[in-house]
Amino acid sequence: MKKHNFFAGPAILPESVLKQAAQAAANWGDMGLSILEISHRSKEFVAVMEEAEALVKELLGLNEEYAVLFLTGGASSQFFMTAMNLLSEDETAAYVDTGSWSSKAIKEAKNFGNIEVLASGKETNYSRIPKDYGVPAAAKYLHLTSNNTIFGTQYHWWPKTEVPFVCDMSSDIFSRPLNTDRFGVIYAGAQKNLGPAGLTLVIVRKELTGKANRVLPTMLNYQTHINKNSSFNTPPVFPIYVSLLTLRWIKERGGLEAMAKNNAKKAALIYDEIDANACFRGTAEKEDRSLMNVTFVMAEGFESLEKGFLEAAVEAGCVGVKGHRSVGGFRASIYNAMPIKSVQVLVEVMQKFGQRHA
Ligand code: PMP
Repeated sequence: MKKHNFFAGPAILPESVLKQAAQAAANWGDMGLSILEISHRSKEFVAVMEEAEALVKELLGLNEEYAVLFLTGGASSQFFMTAMNLLSEDETAAYVDTGSWSSKAIKEAKNFGNIEVLASGKETNYSRIPKDYGVPAAAKYLHLTSNNTIFGTQYHWWPKTEVPFVCDMSSDIFSRPLNTDRFGVIYAGAQKNLGPAGLTLVIVRKELTGKANRVLPTMLNYQTHINKNSSFNTPPVFPIYVSLLTLRWIKERGGLEAMAKNNAKKAALIYDEIDANACFRGTAEKEDRSLMNVTFVMAEGFESLEKGFLEAAVEAGCVGVKGHRSVGGFRASIYNAMPIKSVQVLVEVMQKFGQRHA
């Protein structure tokens, strides 16, 4: 039986994408070769890269000022590559600390310039997105984490500032429409809404690169990858191909507007149940709740039932529901590819559990 996959990442991909990927791994198109065993410089694969780039641009509405890069190293490498490439030693960048991933980005960036942390949600265990701060006009960029995978919070507004955003969108890229004009860099590990682990999507406004006053290793310089269309070295061919399949899937289903509508519907189902069910309590402030990662715990008085609920979920075929250790409880990750039917199954488990115990 196919499980209902609530893992946070690597995470669920559309079933049709998995089928096509499996076929391409065995024999791609009519080539008589696996996609895993052909050159990244073959015309067939160059066409994959070009289509993937074009679809990223089309779906996000990116203009010619932006380069789309297919890199490796994970979002974690972008924590330092962004600062290394954009910020000189004597310049300042602003950061907002909304969780573990933001904190890691801050730590890495400090090696390359002055880092001003404008606000942090740490005191409330990152249950809300800080809102009361000003952005210094001299900052080179403002770093944000649009969706906090671990703590289940998400930006549903953007700070008012002329300073360009550098944004970690690992866990909500392509989940909703975006006004990209305000973003200088967008980066994301592919392994949630896009494809397999091993690909890092980086979108860079080209005019921001090449200005930092330092010598960069060739591989860590955005300009290298811009100049060589992400093929300075061997790019992660299979993750790029699978991501292309997902991008096509997103487009066929109506693009980011359609994704957002469907994601809102799925999230509402589960948040409504959390709010109605005496056994459970959501951990994020309502206005900052993530539409991708729904975090909740047993309500006061029901704590001893945690293990029982997880067992009931597994019994119903729902896997990956255990929360991250820094929040505890449960986390249901409901990315683009998560069918509404799977969310309904989990909600039914919650309902039954409430009827039995509350
Ligand atoms: N940022 C966010 C928001 C994440 O959720 C993750 C991974 N879960 C990362 C960064 C780290 O990504 P990677 O493992 O690709 O380095």
